[in-house]
Formats: sequence, structure tokens, C-alpha cells
Amino acid sequence: MSASAHVGATLLRDAALVLTMDPALGEGPLGGLEHADVLMESGTITEVGAALRPPPDAKVVDVGGRLVLPGFVDAHTHLWQSAIRGRGSTLGFYGWFGACVWTAVPRIGPEDMYHFVRLSAADTLQSGTTTVVDWVPALDYPVSEAYVEAVADSGLRFAYAAYQELPDIELVSKVLRDLVESHALGTAQVATCVTREEPERVRAHAELARELGVVLNLHLLEDPTDRLDDPVSVLVESDALHPNTLLNHVIHVTEAELDTLAGNGAAVVHCPLSNMRLGTGVMPVEKMHRRGMRIGLGQDGGANDSGDMFASMKAAVGLHRAVSLNASAYPDPEQVLYMATMGGARAIGESERIGSITPGKRADVIVVEPRALNFAPRGDWTAQLVFNGRPENVTDVFVDGVRRKRGGELTGTDPARLVAGAEAAARRVWL
Ligand SMILES: [Zn+2]
Repeated sequence: MSASAHVGATLLRDAALVLTMDPALGEGPLGGLEHADVLMESGTITEVGAALRPPPDAKVVDVGGRLVLPGFVDAHTHLWQSAIRGRGSTLGFYGWFGACVWTAVPRIGPEDMYHFVRLSAADTLQSGTTTVVDWVPALDYPVSEAYVEAVADSGLRFAYAAYQELPDIELVSKVLRDLVESHALGTAQVATCVTREEPERVRAHAELARELGVVLNLHLLEDPTDRLDDPVSVLVESDALHPNTLLNHVIHVTEAELDTLAGNGAAVVHCPLSNMRLGTGVMPVEKMHRRGMRIGLGQDGGANDSGDMFASMKAAVGLHRAVSLNASAYPDPEQVLYMATMGGARAIGESERIGSITPGKRADVIVVEPRALNFAPRGDWTAQLVFNGRPENVTDVFVDGVRRKRGGELTGTDPARLVAGAEAAARRVWL
């Protein structure tokens, strides 16, 4: 049973446009419905259509003139990395990693971890993201506990990919079982790293993920030097490539390796702003799309610096046009909106529950105001969501039917307090 089962009914009335992301429900590939209502009951989407009759106790929210779509799925992030925002701003991947990630992680205790994660989670939520997939580095149990508590307190839906080195692999099962799976909005994943010197690590993690029946989550071929490890071969030899494998970045990959990844049904996550920030390269996303691979969009934590999926969608569209000298390159605005919602849900194996406004799915829904200086007048709203949309256009966010943002403000959250908490934590970590 969902923790939100007590949530009453809410009717979103008369949206100018509902982009359901379900072609069976409306027009075009994104299933658009003009002047439509969305009914949510007990955290579930129960009806979508014109002039719905709500149950007598339903709360009716007038969304006239506004756009309604599924909450974004950030398919790859590291929420703790608000701890390193703005740092290492001219460093490449391994320079940034050493100066920021490796330096910060051992210094972050449970209390500071709570503040960093809570800040990023609120930023992510206010930007219209309702699900995050977080690849979490090796942490002690109390720090993991604070991490999960902070995400849970934010109200985000989350997949938590726990990592540990082999001697501590038992801790992965413990964290996932005791902290993540006990939470109604939490899903367990196993995180791994792939290197030529330690193939036994990825083999053990893959085995654990298989035992638990969860996603195996890893970074692959992000930096050009990662080719030295021949990681795709290591994955094949370790029996770690299958439809429950989620691969982040996948930039420096050959055609033959793409055939292998696609042939084994693995899913990928594109993180364009992170790749641009660190100068790591451009994911061959069109080649993956042609091979029918499932593709999600991700923020990648502090290598992006923000939780703004509008910015990542715009970057994904622009980046591939710029490098291919082709303004119709994949992904176009429709395709990137799909990638940021259903694409991510499919990539993480959650498309039966989230990713579209389809009756029966969880009520993860956002409302966007197009009558704004940066957005109006109406031309092509799908393109405008990608080219003009900003987090401040998101007026309302529902996760599992619970209203987490109302009229442009986060509910039950004091942003000034979160900022003060993170500032104090950063002072302690970066003394
Ligand atoms: Zn990452």
C-alpha cells in the first residue's frame, strides 16, 4: 500500500493542454488533449478527459490556461553534490572528481549530508521533477540513513542506487532493505563501477542486483581515458549487461559496442549539461535511438550544478544540432520531452507506474503556466516547453497525489532554512 493512500481526490480542471505522453489517450506522439481534466484519487491517476465529474469530496484546482504534464524523471543524479556546486569550474572530469568528489565525500557526516541532499531535492522538486535516480557513493550506514531521510522528507519519488566496495557489499543489501524499500516512494538499485583491474567488483554487484531483482546502475565511457579499461568487454565477461542495466553517459563508445549494449537490452541516460560542464564529449544519442535503446535524461548532480530539467532538455536539443549541423537532429522538442518523462521511466523499468498521465499510474503530475514573459504568446507549446520553459513556470507539482508545490511555492518547506542549513554544512566541509 502506498503511504499516500490517505490522500483525497484532486481534480485538475480545464487545462488548456494536457500532454499525457500516452499516444493512446490524445493527439500525436505525446498524446495531447486540449481543454481536459485530470482526476487523481488516493495517489493514482484515475481519469483523464473533458468535463470529468469528480467525486463529491474532491478538491478542484482550476488550471485554466495552463499546461499539465507528467513530472520529469531525472534518470541520473547525485543529490549530495550541492556540496560541490560551482567548484572546480575549469577542471575536466578526473581533475574535478579529485578536487571536488573525492575531497568532499569523506568529510560529510550525517547532519551535513542531510542538508546537502535536502537542498538539492527541494530544487529538483520545484523545477518539476518528481522522480530521481540517485547513484550514491560508498557511505557509512548513518550517512546513508541521513541521505535517505532527506530525500524522503522532500517528497520526491526516488530510486536509490547504493554503492560499496566488495568488503562492504553486505551494507548495500542492508541499506536497500532497511532504508529504501521500507519507504513507499523508494526503489532499490545496486550501483557499480567498471574497471579492467577489478572485474570481480562488477561481477559481484551484478550478481547482487540480479538476486534482488533490481537495476544495476553504472557510469560508462564518460571520459576518453575510460576506453583504456575496455569496460564494455568487462561488462560482457561479468554477465552484467541485460535489460536491468542502466548506463550513464556512454560517450566514447564504438559502433560495435553500441550493437552489444543494444543487443543486450541495456538502457542509457544522457546528461548533456554535465558533459558540457566537464568537457567530456557528446553522447551518440541518435545512434542509440536508431538501435531502439531506451534513453532517459539526467542532471548528474554537481557536474550540472542544478536540478533544472528544462535546461537539460534545451541543452540536449541544441547540442546535437550544433555538432551535426542539422536543426532536425534527434532529439527534437517532442522527442526530448518524451526522453525527460516516459523515456526515463522506461529506462529504469518503471513505465508501468510513472512517466505518463495514464489512468492507473501514480499521480506524478506538474502544472506549467505559459502566460509568462518568458513563455507567451502561444506558438507551439511543445517547443516552448523546451525552448522557453523554466522552473518558475511550474506552478504546481504533485507526487503520488500529494501537492508538493502550490501556486509557485514549495509546500511544507522553508527554502531559506534549507539554504542556511546547506551554507553551514558547506562551511564545515570546506573549512
Ligand atoms: Zn554521475
